[in-house]
Amino acid sequence: MKVKAALLAAMLAPTPALASGLVDNVNGITVDEKGDLVHFSGLLIDREGRVEKRLGPGDKPPKELDFRLDGKGRTLVPGMIDAHGHVMQLGFLKLNLDLSDTKTLDEAKAKIAAYAAANPSRPWIIGFGWNQEQWGLGRFPTAADLAGIGNGRPIWLSRVDGHAGWANDAALAAAKITAATKAPPGGRIEMAAGKPTGVLVDKAMALMEPVIPAPLPKDRDAAFIKAQEALLAKGVTAIADMGITIDDWQTFRRAGDRGALVIRIMGYASGTAQAAMIAGSSPTPWLYDDRLRLGGVKLYMDGALGSRGAWLKAPYTDAPGEVGLIQTEPTQLRNQMSRAAMDGFQLAIHAIGDRANAEVLSAIEELAETYKGDRRWRVEHAQIVDPVDLPRFGQQGIIASMQPQHESSDWKMAPARLGPARLGGAYAWRAMLQNGSRLAFGSDVPVEPADPWLGLKVAVTREDARGEPAGGWLPEQRLTLAEALRAYTQGAAYAGFAEKQFGNLATGQRADFLLLDQDIELARPADIANVRVVEVWIGGKRAIAPKAETKE
Ligand SMILES: [Zn+2]
Repeated sequence: MKVKAALLAAMLAPTPALASGLVDNVNGITVDEKGDLVHFSGLLIDREGRVEKRLGPGDKPPKELDFRLDGKGRTLVPGMIDAHGHVMQLGFLKLNLDLSDTKTLDEAKAKIAAYAAANPSRPWIIGFGWNQEQWGLGRFPTAADLAGIGNGRPIWLSRVDGHAGWANDAALAAAKITAATKAPPGGRIEMAAGKPTGVLVDKAMALMEPVIPAPLPKDRDAAFIKAQEALLAKGVTAIADMGITIDDWQTFRRAGDRGALVIRIMGYASGTAQAAMIAGSSPTPWLYDDRLRLGGVKLYMDGALGSRGAWLKAPYTDAPGEVGLIQTEPTQLRNQMSRAAMDGFQLAIHAIGDRANAEVLSAIEELAETYKGDRRWRVEHAQIVDPVDLPRFGQQGIIASMQPQHESSDWKMAPARLGPARLGGAYAWRAMLQNGSRLAFGSDVPVEPADPWLGLKVAVTREDARGEPAGGWLPEQRLTLAEALRAYTQGAAYAGFAEKQFGNLATGQRADFLLLDQDIELARPADIANVRVVEVWIGGKRAIAPKAETKE
């Protein structure tokens, strides 16, 4: 796949470069540094694409302007900021073959064949999303079902839940899986008449991983373009990319160098070794007019609640004896935190269970004695917190980087895992604010869709897509629209040390804003999820995503 220079040239508006412009006749809404909603009717943009001034009804704009956009009364808000996502994972999901909409095995086979034909130079056909239940097949698919598709290239397709993979004969041969192959513990190789059928379950999928070729730079470039397109479509103008590698960084750099980096990326390296490879011994400056920076390091304390990997103080209610999985030993975690903090990197630590959160808080409290100043320690997810630990977030000025959409996905599962007594600090957004912590909201895309409108709706309702439970789950944790909007804009920028660059359309910030098809203050809370983004402006210019070619 190639990204054409001509298309890239078209990515930024017909607006003249370095324009001094005015967007007026808008219902402007933003949240200031104190958390108050601010209304305005126009936006004056200077010749460098920064906000010169938010205008009120009485303000007279200058007569000499390079451009003027009539907002036609539409609602204007700052560009949405996703405080926790995975850009390249999103891109590869968009780039690879998606079978989730197929209704029958035959339909899936046709789609696989069409994808293979459209991508003749891809060494492997990689896809995801199949579900034999949805096909009404009554069995797993097999390698034989894929015979004759893809000109002999290996095919590897993961199931919708990610817990099984479907291979063709070429893929099985590449991984040297034969009748004699033993599945690793925690895995299963589906067999029929003593031979592998083509489906590998759970840990057996790991047999395939080492033989799948790493994506080429051109694949990464195409995936990035897809990710950027998806983010811009929802009005996400900046994202904190949580756990990037040197390959991801180089992809962003290539995009920046050829003028195809439109969104803003606050990068957090996947561990201290990647940080050193990407940035050396200190964070990078902002590059490409505040579009890319490596400012922090992402570390992991524990796993996730759904798979019982979250580290808990007491055993799981639905799995007696199990307390979850430690991803990094506490001493090792402190060593890595210390190394990163010494070099001036910000720390963003994944903690989901109450034990994991308590451990991370202890580590931060100890390190804060040595590493003073404005550190903005971040806890990623902070999902299940023991109420006794909540004040510790505020005491250290810790940022709770949370994902409202997880609440709407987990509200039935969390009580099963934890029982009713441990929910006092579960997805506790309001309690975080009451305890003096700062909120930054994100999606954790691709775990959840990168859709801040869905997130805003959940943040103010705590209801899922079906409107359940009516009135919201643990409704005392609901936020006001101002609180939720702040967590997706100014709060998310602050969490990335980017509040001078963007976030709430304050004077001097980059003019990143959206025009919406409805007024989010007047919309019924449940309808905020349906907000449509009509226009996206980044740095004072209309942002149009560069397109990847769909064919090679
Ligand atoms: Zn994540």
